[in-house]
Amino acid sequence: TILMLLGFSLIISLLVWWLLGRPRSMEGELKRALRAREFVPYLQPLVASDGGKLMGAEVLMRWQHPTCGLIRPDLFIPQAEECGVIVPMTAQLMQTVAQQLASWQDKLPDGFHIGFNISAVHCRDFSLLAQCRAFLAHFIPGRVVLVLELTERELLVADPHTLSLFRQLDEMGVKLAIDDFGTGHSSLVYLQQFRVDYLKIDKSFIGRIGTESLSEHIVDNVIDLGSRLGVALIAEGVETRQQADYLRGKVAYLQGYLLGRPVPLPRFCGELRSSAPP
Ligand code: C2E
Ligand code: CA
Ligand code: CA
Ligand code: CA
Repeated sequence: TILMLLGFSLIISLLVWWLLGRPRSMEGELKRALRAREFVPYLQPLVASDGGKLMGAEVLMRWQHPTCGLIRPDLFIPQAEECGVIVPMTAQLMQTVAQQLASWQDKLPDGFHIGFNISAVHCRDFSLLAQCRAFLAHFIPGRVVLVLELTERELLVADPHTLSLFRQLDEMGVKLAIDDFGTGHSSLVYLQQFRVDYLKIDKSFIGRIGTESLSEHIVDNVIDLGSRLGVALIAEGVETRQQADYLRGKVAYLQGYLLGRPVPLPRFCGELRSSAPP
């Protein structure tokens, strides 16, 4: 009987542990959050460097967690990329933004740029084509320009598979931006192969404008490279008036806390209404 009791209590405690204390895998938790639609879009404005007109926005993902609150993307995107859940997460984010933003399209300036961050795994997935097509179908033609931001740190392989996907995106009018430009190792050939439309100069360079002559020199070199390639430049992480003044006339667009912080999509759209002429 003692052995039976011991065995019984062991089974009970295992059951309790499994029900209450079982550590959930990050992958399982991400999939649960996806089903519960806890990944939400924040939008940060993109403005013309001369004149400050609103040109578009970048969509930045946030995790609205039921107990932990709002979680920043650097804490869950790498894990989501590792297990591939990033693809359905991004697809759902695009769908949410399309549905919500479409109801505000009368307030958007024509050719409003809407940028999404796309992981390298997603760039080998032909489902991306259907997702972009579905996104654009929510809008009057010409109202928005869909931009896919690919980080320079995750080098894409220019194989026939990926190149064919990018050719089809190009035919659809989808634009391509290289994110965090200057931190990776893309060559001119690489940039031309992917028909890049925009280069986003990494904020680590912008942040040092006016502090060290060396990094101003680097910024100037990146600007020079961009102009020679014929791609439009975007400066990210613009925080001070001095940085904005330095960049005016050198880059096309500015993005950063000086121009506006990322805010939930409904708030971004609400502010569109209040600033639009009656
Ligand atoms: P990123 O694409 O380079 O996005 C710019 C980051 O800089 C954002 O951080 C933004 O909030 C922040 N930022 C904007 N203006 C300023 C500024 O003036 N100063 C400073 N110091 N920072 C500024 P966030 O939102 O935390 O996103 C971090 C990164 O997470 C993004 O970097 C991007 O790589 C990734 N990420 C965000 N959303 C997504 C997504 O939907 N999919 C994927 N794959 N990655 C995402
Ligand atoms: Ca980005
Ligand atoms: Ca193109
Ligand atoms: Ca960046």
